[in-house]
Amino acid sequence: MSEVEQNLAEVRERIAAAAARAGRSADDVGLIAVSKTFPAEAVREAWEAGQSVFGESRVQESVAKIAELPGALRWHFIGHMQKNKVRRALPLFELFHGIDSLDLAQAMDRIAAEDGLFPRVLIEVNVAGEAAKFGLRPEALDRDLDALLALPRLQIEGLMTIAPYAEEPEASRPHFRSLRELRDRLAAHTGLPFGTLSMGMSGDFAVAVEEGATLVRVGTAIFGSRGKGL
Ligand SMILES: *Cc1c(COP(=O)(O)O)cnc(C)c1O
Repeated sequence: MSEVEQNLAEVRERIAAAAARAGRSADDVGLIAVSKTFPAEAVREAWEAGQSVFGESRVQESVAKIAELPGALRWHFIGHMQKNKVRRALPLFELFHGIDSLDLAQAMDRIAAEDGLFPRVLIEVNVAGEAAKFGLRPEALDRDLDALLALPRLQIEGLMTIAPYAEEPEASRPHFRSLRELRDRLAAHTGLPFGTLSMGMSGDFAVAVEEGATLVRVGTAIFGSRGKGL
């Protein structure tokens, strides 16, 4: 068994255990293997171990990688999207997790209309209100919600968050809970499901699953460490 294969098995087991603790089905939690900075060969290894969905956070890097790999692989864009990269990215990714401003959403909607696409997206929420983070603050989401929902091309499927960095996984729990509660309020207010909650990374995905994550984004625990700041 390769190291990536072994890591994947371990991560899947931990997801299943966390789901069981919360009385949820593990089938309701999707695992995104975050392959940013790792070469196509590492992705291929994970693919051969049964992993089908991969996460990338830089358009430039992913264009080359995606072209090298079988077309059956599925890709999610999990990072901050620059407006000048939207057209290039739209046909490559099946879900965009990092819609972090009304401005970006409007640009994406306009380009999607020009190119005949209906992108699936998640709104990134900065639930902890960290100054240096991307994402809409909850109060900004309240303000921009109607304008976001009015965009005809974007299919808004739910919310995404990145918890503040912490050593202890438990430190992320209140932020994940806030995102779920915010989703419940939005769903009640709009009558739309907002069914997807993308939250949890290598350090805290088990806690995220306990708090209702339907997608977890796991890089390091599958592929190994990337070095600082990436
Ligand atoms: C890099 C990244 C991840 C994965 O982080 P790990 O700690 O390596 O699991 C998840 N989500 C986003 C948005 C990322 O940029």
